[in-house]
Amino acid sequence: MDHPNPARPFTKGNENDVDALIHSPDPHHPANHISDLCRKFYGLGWVTGTGGGVSIRHGDHIFLAPSGVQKELMQPEDMFVMDFRTREYVRRPAVLKPSACTPLFLAAFTHRGAGCCIHTHSQWAVLVTLICEAGLQNDRSTPEEEGDNTRNVFAIKEIEQIKGISRGGAGSSEIAEGGRKLGNLGYHDTMRIPIIENTAHEEDLRETLEAAMQQWPETCAVLVRRHGVYVWGKDVAQAKTQAESLDYLFRLAVEMHRLGLKWV
Ligand code: ZN
Repeated sequence: MDHPNPARPFTKGNENDVDALIHSPDPHHPANHISDLCRKFYGLGWVTGTGGGVSIRHGDHIFLAPSGVQKELMQPEDMFVMDFRTREYVRRPAVLKPSACTPLFLAAFTHRGAGCCIHTHSQWAVLVTLICEAGLQNDRSTPEEEGDNTRNVFAIKEIEQIKGISRGGAGSSEIAEGGRKLGNLGYHDTMRIPIIENTAHEEDLRETLEAAMQQWPETCAVLVRRHGVYVWGKDVAQAKTQAESLDYLFRLAVEMHRLGLKWV
């Protein structure tokens, strides 16, 4: 497969040292894992046209997919690596630009202790924010029901897949009697995901995204109106499970709306 950046020069650090950060035979090494996830997410329509992205925290290092590279062609050599404490890049491919999502990913690592953050431009996420914006799910009999059916929050309940979503954005790996994961939402819980307004430049979302994280301590995701969704988890497996569960719920919600069914 041809790659647009055959020289792969670096601007910082010894080339051999920094290359050791992204070369590993382990498929779960962050540089390999991000490349693999980008290909998978491209197939789902989540990162079309180089939009969206994935970032993994591995110890003191943050691994970030770059801006402007076709997601299905992503290679470990394309990765930016940042020192989490100093916020300086310890590896940056000179011919590539860092992702504009970087401040948003850092917000999830800093404020939620996340180990992985996924950003998608899924059409289902976008459509859910449009339905909420237009007030099309509002129930006129209970217009003031707090938190539900409002412009700035997506709420849905009594759908099995809600159990794939954690409370507090991290949850627990313990298994309760009956196989339910402790720390996850239950079937009768209402899942609520806050919606923030889009900005002209992605990095300018940081302030409102951080405010939403603070206002909604139980959420593991923030929807961005007319744009997509940011989802995080304590590790890659949890972030991916939650991103998949949410996309399932967003798609289901759009179809329910089309059929005239209420989400809550
Ligand atoms: Zn985006």
